[in-house]
Parts: sequence; C-alpha cells; structure tokens
Amino acid sequence: MTRADRRPDEPSQVTAPTLGAVTAVLDRLYPPATAESWDAVGLVCGDPQQPVRRVLLAVDPTAAVVDEALDWGADLLVVHHPLLLRGVHGVPASTPKGRLVHRLVRGGCGLFAAHTNADSAQPGVSDALARALGLVDLRPLRPRGGQPLDKVVVFVPTGDADRLVDALAAAGAGAIGDYSRCAWTTTGSGTFRAEPGADPSVGVVGEVARVEEARVEMVLPRGRRQDVVRALRAAHPYEEPAFDVLELAELREPAGLGRGTGLGRVGRLEPPLTLEQLTTRVATALPATAQGVRAAGPPDALLERVAVCGGAGDDLFDDVRASGADAFVTADLRHHPAAEAREAAGDGPPYLVDVSHWASEWPWLADCAGRMLSALAEQGSTVATRVSTTRTDPWTLHVPNRGGPS
Ligand SMILES: [Zn+2]
Repeated sequence: MTRADRRPDEPSQVTAPTLGAVTAVLDRLYPPATAESWDAVGLVCGDPQQPVRRVLLAVDPTAAVVDEALDWGADLLVVHHPLLLRGVHGVPASTPKGRLVHRLVRGGCGLFAAHTNADSAQPGVSDALARALGLVDLRPLRPRGGQPLDKVVVFVPTGDADRLVDALAAAGAGAIGDYSRCAWTTTGSGTFRAEPGADPSVGVVGEVARVEEARVEMVLPRGRRQDVVRALRAAHPYEEPAFDVLELAELREPAGLGRGTGLGRVGRLEPPLTLEQLTTRVATALPATAQGVRAAGPPDALLERVAVCGGAGDDLFDDVRASGADAFVTADLRHHPAAEAREAAGDGPPYLVDVSHWASEWPWLADCAGRMLSALAEQGSTVATRVSTTRTDPWTLHVPNRGGPS
C-alpha cells in the first residue's frame, strides 16, 4: 500500500499530528526522566516537523519489524527495546543497526523507544501484563526510588526575589508533581561590608550595609544543579550572591513522578486459581511462542496474590518474597536464580511461571496505542495505529525431550 492509498477512515492531513506532537505525548505517558541511568530512550531518528498518520508498535526494532513498518507506510515505529543502547560513533549502512536507521530514514519513518520509562510508568508494561492475566488491585513490586533532588537556598534583596524565582524555575528548579515555580520565601535582614576592590550593587565600599533580603528555597533535580547555579549567578543582583545547595535524602516515592510507579506489579486473582490454572491462563492470554509457558511448583497449589514483571525479572526475587506473592510470572528465568528461589521456599510459595520475554511485554503495545490515541484526541488529532504481528521471540523450535538419566 502506498501513502496515496489512504483509506477513508484514516486520519486526513488536517488532523495528522506532527512527529514532535506524538513524541511529546509519549514522553508524558512515559517520562524519560524515569528511565534507568544506563538506558537510551526517546527519538532515534525522524523529523519532529513531519506529519504522522500511521504508527506501528512493536517490542523489538528488528529488520522484519522495519519491513512491516515500511510495507504498511508507517510514519513512526514505536518500540520497547532501544535499537542503539550503547554509545555509537556513527550509523553506517554497512552495520546491521545502521542499515535499519538508513532504511527508516529513507522510508520517512521515525523510530522512538520507550523502555525502562515504560516499565516504571503508571500504567506501564507490567500493568498491561497483569491485566492480561486478570489481576486486580495492582501496586508496584519495587516502588521507584526516583531521581535525586537538591534544594537551593538563596538570599536576595526582596525586590529581586520574584525575578530570581522566575530565573531558577526556567533553569529547572521548583517543579513538584503537576506544579511548577514552587518556592518558599521568608524575609530577614542581611548585612555585609564591601571591601576595597568590590563593586557592590547595594551600599558603598568600606561601610556596613544592611539590606532587607528574602530567603528563597526551591527544589531541583540533582542533574540540573549546574544549570540552576549558573542561572542564579546570572539573575542575582549581587556580585557575590550567598546561597547553599543541599542534597536531599532519597525517598522511595519522590515528589513529581506520580504515585504508583516502579518495576513489576503485584495484584490479586479473583477468584484464586491453582498454579496449573494460572499457567494455562498465561498461555492463553499471551501470544504463542516456541518455548510456551513453564512453571515451578505443585500444580494444585492455590494462588491468590501474584507478582508479575514484563521482561527479565529474576533480580526482583527479594521484592517478590517481601510482597507475600504466591506466584511470580516473568521472563528469562535463569537456572541459578530460579533454582535458589525454589530451594529457599521449600515446597511453599512463591511458585514461578516463566514466559518468553517478547510475549511478556507484548500486551503493553495495545495499551500504549490506546493511551496515545486518547491523548492525541484531546488535542484534536489522531493517527492510525497497528500492533506489530511480527513474532520477534528469537526461539523458533521446541522439542520436549523424553529421555532421562538412567
Ligand atoms: Zn524487555
């Protein structure tokens, strides 16, 4: 199908958002600041000014998925796993990943990744998995630690306080949740004596000056410290402004990142199921893969509380035990962590259910598409969306082996 063959039900030029408008919506749903520090999320290629009519969503940016995107005439490919996770110096078409970037650019298709920010978001990747399995009353398995915060405290003549607050806010200070330019001020008396060589904006050299000053306090992400201090020095009327920057204690659920964010989810099965029934439900709810679904534990064990983590979750065992979950559904369970977790549990919970990594994250794609469309509709625009049907699970063959040690 070519772009000219647009079906009548597809968005017209008038309602098509720009790529920049679509990625702004995705950044709101999955704030990039909540991605893990090693991650590489956001726009990989694409012109923010170009209109977007068709968006394909997929777990992996493989060559087959790029084929699917270009064959459909997609203007944007939204993926969960980043194409370029480690630093690169170039994207020559002589490398497999560079070739994909070239093909996407030539085909006019942008590429956007929402990875650990989509894991942490509320609702995120594990919410979609949990809902697909029928879990209710969801909460994060490992609540997000949040970004570290500083507080800046600065003393400024009262008449300049508002202007300084504006400047600090523009540099990234004073954002708390859905509020911006948050600041606290009190007033008091500041005093100083300008020594020879000084060029005071208030008072004269050699005499003690007393000034009515405001003490201004604002929080800021630690990553913006340099920007905020630079803005403070630029906006402050004094030659030598007095200020402190304090590191704040880390909280499990920080201000500004929304409630209920974090990795994995734990919820309730209503009514309870046996391990065998849950395993069957997982196999039914998720797309088929060669490896299927495997479980560890007695088939007739009754489960009510279930933890899930889309993607590889075997570093969350401590959180699973702390949550009191009867079972843990995740992907990529390796021999040692799985065997040790079962050994530590005796014959009791938590029991384990292991699925394909790709299948565990796949339910998020439709969820992401729906939320993106709702947000675009609020702005009076829309796109056609499609969830990729390309199975990017790398395993293609599974043979149960019947032989045993004898
Ligand atoms: Zn993953």
